[in-house]
Amino acid sequence: MDRSELKHEASKSLHLLPPQRNVSPSMINFADLIDNTMSANDKQGFGTKAVHAGVTPDPTTGAIMTPIFQTSTYVQASPGEHKGYEYARTQNPTRDALQESLAALEGGKYGVCFASGLAAMDAVIKMFKAGDEFLCGHDLYGGSYRLLVKVYEPLGIKSRYIDMTDLELVKKSIRPETKLIWLETPTNPTLQITDIKAVCDIAREYNIPVCVDNTFASPYLQNPLSLGATLVHHSITKYIAGHSDVVMGGIVTSDDAIAEKLKFIQNASGGVPGPQDCFLVLRGIKTLHIRMDRSCENAMQLADYLSKHPKVGKVMYPGLKTHPQHTLATSQMKNYGGMISFDLKDDSIASANKVLSGTKLFSLAESLGGVESLIGHPASMTHAAIPREQRLQSGLTDSLIRLSVGIESIEDLIADMEEALSGV
Ligand SMILES: *Cc1c(COP(=O)(O)O)cnc(C)c1O
Repeated sequence: MDRSELKHEASKSLHLLPPQRNVSPSMINFADLIDNTMSANDKQGFGTKAVHAGVTPDPTTGAIMTPIFQTSTYVQASPGEHKGYEYARTQNPTRDALQESLAALEGGKYGVCFASGLAAMDAVIKMFKAGDEFLCGHDLYGGSYRLLVKVYEPLGIKSRYIDMTDLELVKKSIRPETKLIWLETPTNPTLQITDIKAVCDIAREYNIPVCVDNTFASPYLQNPLSLGATLVHHSITKYIAGHSDVVMGGIVTSDDAIAEKLKFIQNASGGVPGPQDCFLVLRGIKTLHIRMDRSCENAMQLADYLSKHPKVGKVMYPGLKTHPQHTLATSQMKNYGGMISFDLKDDSIASANKVLSGTKLFSLAESLGGVESLIGHPASMTHAAIPREQRLQSGLTDSLIRLSVGIESIEDLIADMEEALSGV
């Protein structure tokens, strides 16, 4: 499906959607409020949007925080006469507020949230059909790769994996059946940077939409829509929620037809997040910029410390001048993020294990993006399924250690790392 067909497909589904909000007078006020904040949003700074976007005082009580609308259904006055809400899979006010907020943070028109990052990706894939093919970065998040290869490949939606930092290769790899480019930047765990604008420029020549998984950067550091992407994907679980207490995903787009299609799939397939989780994420978002600032600051100092440590081999952090794409990262991102990878001069799993079990503040766990610092070993954890030879080729060495740097005091984080490295 090319872009115009995609739009056509999306518009064909429109008649399947429930009628637009059948609004009562009180709802009209509520909707107006949202529209007014939307237009003001464009000029507001990120911090203001993080605190205010999508959130309006509850019209019935004035509660400043959006309530947790823990309900499955809504009472109707007579059949079809309701306040814009019929059933909670289709609409929920807590979710609506979050979706508005997410859209504003990415500078997009629409946000659509799902029960996990992978459920959000699943909804994007469902816009396509058997015979279509995705062109993806070769170091995609493992779960994204699994979804495409194990679930959708047997159903006829194919995917190919290439080095997205090689723009000539991107160009050469586009085929008639290529219908979507899916990329992540910075990548996991080697923190390579893909030039979003350059890939989008190529994709536009072929009328192919680009979806950027923006999980690692967060909307605070990088806004792919402004660089030409059609869709932005987030594992909200990570930086956006930020407190390691929610699993959720979201898509942002400014394309009307694609948004309708995604909302249709959200309702038709039903992978929606619950209102309690939406509330927690709305709460987390209010401090996204502050958390991110501190994570970036801590990560920069820690990367600097690690790069001078005698036992440390290579340090991968886009903020270091030694990072091969440092200049690109500087132009594309507002700051360099909270993720660092490094390996050891003694490149063995045994040495890595000493560090991994030697830290006290850095907890050994999968995931990232929370206020607490985490440490992980991709070769045995997130990337264990990849054959060793293939893993080594992409720079994922045996001793490679991945850090998600939290917002603790930097002196303590460095002391913790110093202690753990002394055991190697
Ligand atoms: C975690 C993650 C996902 C998957 O999100 P879930 O919320 O765990 O389903 C996708 N992409 C990236 C880059 C991730 O880190």
